[in-house]
Amino acid sequence: MNSIIMRAISSDGGIRVIYCDSTEIVKKSCEIHHTSKTMTAVLGRALTGTSLMASLLKDKDNTLTFQLRGDGPCGSVVCVGDYMGNVRGYVDDPSVELPPNAVGKLDVGGAVGRGSMYIIKDLGMNEPYVGVAPIVSGEIAEDLTEYFATSEQTPTVCALGVRVDHDNMCYAAGGYLVQLMPGYYEEDIPILEGNISKMESVSKLIADGKTGEEIIAMILEGIGYEMFDEFDIDYLCPCDREKYLRALIGLNEEDMNELREAGEPVETNCRFCGKKFVFELDELDAARAEARRKSADSEE
Ligand SMILES: [Zn+2]
Repeated sequence: MNSIIMRAISSDGGIRVIYCDSTEIVKKSCEIHHTSKTMTAVLGRALTGTSLMASLLKDKDNTLTFQLRGDGPCGSVVCVGDYMGNVRGYVDDPSVELPPNAVGKLDVGGAVGRGSMYIIKDLGMNEPYVGVAPIVSGEIAEDLTEYFATSEQTPTVCALGVRVDHDNMCYAAGGYLVQLMPGYYEEDIPILEGNISKMESVSKLIADGKTGEEIIAMILEGIGYEMFDEFDIDYLCPCDREKYLRALIGLNEEDMNELREAGEPVETNCRFCGKKFVFELDELDAARAEARRKSADSEE
């Protein structure tokens, strides 16, 4: 079983739907971060939204970072996605648990709080594109809908959902973006709104065994469309030992002396995937000497 993205476009090109079943990705994030029930939903929704948005990037070295910086108890949420919709993420405090909200749901909005959200697109140019918007509810899907309306001028409906069992483990997660493209037909809007308003939540539909094709058919019922493409997505972290070694080579001499005084091997932990890398002090000294030699050579 893999997580997947499926995309469809209306026959006139005016409406596109990007659908994602992110169940396996959210399960992996539960295992890595040992999230509480509420935080499984917070991080799960953020990862799903990031995957949907990142899949709209154009080039294979583009990345999209989604940050929620709210004043709620969970602290910041950070997710990164690549152009194929693969994602990774973390939250400052994955253990936060809150009582259910007023409608009996996991209190995602309460955990995130209010503040700002950032959508940072690294498109391989000198400066990344940075979009900022207020967090309107902290429920994430509503926040992204608002972001698309105000920052990207693309009318968008975003739905995100995560179902969590008694062991805090995700058993269904997914979401979709429905976007109006230039030249859409005005008369399609009430049809679309009617379809979406009578649908059950996306995580309920996935939990009930509905397929991506069936869910897209519900969204676009009465509107001619074609399936555009479909691909697998995963929880992927591209970190490696080399990256951390380079960071340690870049430490100033003062910080390095502190590490030498402590006399212990240096251990680094990846916040996204939990991978540990250990460096012996001798190895660091040798790598730093080598880097100094190289930079001296290049200055000659
Ligand atoms: Zn990693």
